[in-house]
Amino acid sequence: MEHRTSNAEHRTLFSDYHSHPQGHRVQRYTQTLLQPWVDSAREHGLSDIAFTDHDRYHEGIDFEEIERLREANPDIKIRAGIELDNDPVHSPAGRRWVEKHWDKLDFVLGSVHYLERDDQMFDTVPEGAEQFAGREIDLIYADYFRRVREMAASGLVDCLAHLDLIKIHGHRPTSDIQTLVAETLEFIRARGLAIELSTAGRRKPVNELYPSDAIIELAIEKGIPFTTASDAHSHVQLGENYERLAEKVKQFGIREVAAYEHHKREMRPL
Ligand SMILES: [Zn+2]
Ligand SMILES: [Zn+2]
Repeated sequence: MEHRTSNAEHRTLFSDYHSHPQGHRVQRYTQTLLQPWVDSAREHGLSDIAFTDHDRYHEGIDFEEIERLREANPDIKIRAGIELDNDPVHSPAGRRWVEKHWDKLDFVLGSVHYLERDDQMFDTVPEGAEQFAGREIDLIYADYFRRVREMAASGLVDCLAHLDLIKIHGHRPTSDIQTLVAETLEFIRARGLAIELSTAGRRKPVNELYPSDAIIELAIEKGIPFTTASDAHSHVQLGENYERLAEKVKQFGIREVAAYEHHKREMRPL
């Protein structure tokens, strides 16, 4: 499998700041659940990982279990995190949970998974593509990036996840979105937030990294920091497709990535 052979090729990349130990349901954190993630990190040459389960599964997160895991694995930095999204049903409780546990968390990702429909994430594959059918794609893009700015303004996130997730099913805007993207990045820069370079899109119909080259270029111009991420929903996906990400990082001359401890950012060299 590809991930088994990728170690040497991405040796510059050492962190994965987007992972889902609980997958798609509540699974209480235990050493049995978490240890395979650390083993996988080690196997893939990663020394710094963040657990960022979806906020709707916050009940499964146990900070004491994370602490025990750290004690058992002192060679790997393990960050306590969460992926906060704009789920109209669950995220109000998710936001309260993040506020309450802010000091115990190292890192919070902000994501937009919902557009106008309350009952379906637009990024479910293939069902979510329904939300684009017969619609003006440019308007959907504008609406999506407005929601990203809203998330960035929440004051509860350190980094924005998969910034151009809206392309997931392969829908492309018909007009230039450079202004829209520039406004959004400016908003992110002004709030001192990072964005992630994610390989997750390689597993999706769009089959591209998030975000696009044009967005990476603009983010570099603005001095916005990056994290590296796989959005793994299984421990075998940790660091997945990092050899491609390493190429991208090299292509853009990116020399450092952001690491977080108690929301404090430290730029670490690659
Ligand atoms: Zn997400
Ligand atoms: Zn995720």
